[in-house]
Amino acid sequence: MPSGLSMQSGSDSKRHRVLPVPKAVANLRTFEPDSSTVSDIIPSPNFGERNKGRQPDMIVLHYTGMPDVEGALARLCTAGTEVSAHYVVLEDGRIVQCVPEAKRAWHAGVSSWAGEDDINSCSIGIEIINRGHDWGYPEYPLRQIAAVIALCRGIMLRRKVPAHRVLGHSDVAPARKKDPGEKFPWHSLANSGVGHWVTPAPIVRGESLMLGTISDAVLSMQQALAKYGYGVPLNGKYDAATMEVVTAFQRHFRPARFDGVADHSTLSTLQALLASLPPEGTTVASK
Ligand SMILES: [Zn+2]
Repeated sequence: MPSGLSMQSGSDSKRHRVLPVPKAVANLRTFEPDSSTVSDIIPSPNFGERNKGRQPDMIVLHYTGMPDVEGALARLCTAGTEVSAHYVVLEDGRIVQCVPEAKRAWHAGVSSWAGEDDINSCSIGIEIINRGHDWGYPEYPLRQIAAVIALCRGIMLRRKVPAHRVLGHSDVAPARKKDPGEKFPWHSLANSGVGHWVTPAPIVRGESLMLGTISDAVLSMQQALAKYGYGVPLNGKYDAATMEVVTAFQRHFRPARFDGVADHSTLSTLQALLASLPPEGTTVASK
């Protein structure tokens, strides 16, 4: 834990800040937290209005991918960086809110899911402090994961977010993003009702679809990935874009191997997920 940060929570922490607040944002107006799990408000100027009043019914989880907490908070809360998130979850489990849930935070970038491409308008963005793949990619501490679960459960309840619409940044932007990555314990979240999960099918020897394959089987796989929500070409060609989507799928749902090769385990895990969606699960909620 970086020096200068100490454990403190409750309403006092808003008056006596325990977090270093980036200078550039010290004068922004504060707001009431949307979640009782929030210990600090650090307002970010980086947000707008949700398009056409779209109400959020999705949660997108990220890692910050930066060497330290202060740098990550400064980036998310300083004007001009054009990035933000509604929440930041620290390694010690404290939760900072930066943007009110009613507003459109700028966390997803170019992305798509289930036919929608303005993911920022339909989602709540949660940044989880973790240095990420470029800085050694440490394990997520248990108390941090417990905090993510508590935060997500509240949002799901208040916003009627279905479990299968709690996703990773890499799910909605597979060509650009790896976060929160293969070490993120989606199975633990699912044990608490957060996110959609089936036990991955075991990895066995056998035929696989891979980069370069052109076949009806590739098209069927692309259709299945699209039905689940992924933005994927529907051309029957196992091209680079398709491989990126398969890799993103594996990081989330079959993290024991994420090589972009669609083996039997990958395909049957995908089928099991589709089969266990709620009946209305594959359509975008009409809001
Ligand atoms: Zn991200």
